[in-house]
Amino acid sequence: MDERLSQELAAWLEFYRELGIEEFYRRPPVPKIETGNSKLETRNSKLVPEPSTGSRLPVPDSRLPSLEPRAPALPPQALNLFEAPQPARRERETLEQIRGDLGDCQRCRLAAGRKTIVFGQGSAQAQLVFVGEGPGADEDEQGLPFVGRAGQLLNRMLQSIGIKREDVYICNVVKCRPPGNRTPERDEIESCSPFLFRQIEAIRPRLVCCLGAPAVKTLLGLKEGMLKIRGRFYDYGGTKALATVHPAYVLRNPREEKILREDFEKIRDFLKA
Ligand code: URA
Repeated sequence: MDERLSQELAAWLEFYRELGIEEFYRRPPVPKIETGNSKLETRNSKLVPEPSTGSRLPVPDSRLPSLEPRAPALPPQALNLFEAPQPARRERETLEQIRGDLGDCQRCRLAAGRKTIVFGQGSAQAQLVFVGEGPGADEDEQGLPFVGRAGQLLNRMLQSIGIKREDVYICNVVKCRPPGNRTPERDEIESCSPFLFRQIEAIRPRLVCCLGAPAVKTLLGLKEGMLKIRGRFYDYGGTKALATVHPAYVLRNPREEKILREDFEKIRDFLKA
């Protein structure tokens, strides 16, 4: 063995010794595949890491006998977790950006029957976000959520707990009016709800109030009857969410107004705390 070869071998041995690897064994000879292409000389050549220039590792010489540690080979440049680049943090979106993305939405069949997209209304800094079901005729006409009879009841409830409508944010599970005010269907909710999730993320309120079953199902995944789950606080991705009945339900069942009143008092108490 010439001088240079033995120095290179010593460097390799020292390198592995520093890693705590003292024992070596000789790999059985790999049969040469005659391809006429010198790059494909061993079956596992692709698995051998390419020595990179500037690496701390000694560069193996192909003439050296094959000495392999029993420990798995290190990648040529082991990543130090503390130096690894951090994934880029996403900036918080604005409601305007989300509205811009929604554009003249044609993502579901509701687009065909709508007059106006009802995106949402209120304060981008709201501590409280209301999520209803979908626009009705008045909302479709005006492009604003909860401006019909159900909206007037919502306004009264807000007033009763001393909260101004302009201080909250109001939106719906779907942004276009379902024909005949029917309940939005699953595929319509699937197309539209990502925009709702982004709106809530943009606002980051302290409390989300789900008005009625579609909002409860979409945000909380709860399928039980509303009368069973209403009046309780749930978790929506780290944000508190209260489930209550839809104001339209109270308009149809006026004796149930006390339920809504009771739940709005819970909202007031939560925001006061
Ligand atoms: N009902 C809803 O669910 N949303 C509205 O915007 C109006 C009525």
